[in-house]
Amino acid sequence: MSLDDIKTRIADAEAKAGRASGSVKLIAVSKVQPDERVEAVLEQGHRVFGENRVQEAAGKWPAFRERFDGIELHLIGPLQTNKARQAMELVDAIHSVDRPKLARTLARLAQETGHCPDLFIQVNTGEEDQKAGVLPSDADGFIAECRDLDLPVRGLMCIPPVEEEPALHFALLAKIAVRNGLEGLSMGMSGDFETAIALGATHVRVGSAIFGERVKAGE
Ligand SMILES: *Cc1c(COP(=O)(O)O)cnc(C)c1O
Repeated sequence: MSLDDIKTRIADAEAKAGRASGSVKLIAVSKVQPDERVEAVLEQGHRVFGENRVQEAAGKWPAFRERFDGIELHLIGPLQTNKARQAMELVDAIHSVDRPKLARTLARLAQETGHCPDLFIQVNTGEEDQKAGVLPSDADGFIAECRDLDLPVRGLMCIPPVEEEPALHFALLAKIAVRNGLEGLSMGMSGDFETAIALGATHVRVGSAIFGERVKAGE
């Protein structure tokens, strides 16, 4: 696979779903990938990337930003409140807002700095114990809570359980978004982004299909 192949597949999936060309944003997930691979994708002109750890993102993106204009960085992994400030300075979007304490911290920092990245609320659609995200039944309440805090909530994010049909989870996420008037849907990874696009994804997070297998486990 390559960046161009993935872009072609996204365009085909958009067309097949009757969606506007370019309506899906490709987030190239560069976590634990060697710098040469990331650089190769930057050289091909891609500018939207995802990382799942603040520490790792802080270690590699400032240098890339000095060399390449227009980089847009998305934090897609769990965020600890004590890293929230650093994350807000570094990234353009956070896809993993998943609890009131984090929401309150982000709101306080946004007040203080006058700046906040775009936010996505992570929903644990599979209700898995080990996975982050609010439960589907708590989603409406948490979205309202975030809005009361004046947070810029742009959409929802999910990571379906590995063993299950992702379409059911994507459809559930889309339903929660519609009833809450949210446009953004961050869903779909290397193995299932076309299904996600068919069900309304606006942001797909694709790692290994672009960069190759990760050298270390990236969870
Ligand atoms: C690693 C990761 C991805 C990308 O996974 P691939 O299967 O390599 O495409 C997407 N979303 C999240 C939250 C991730 O942690």
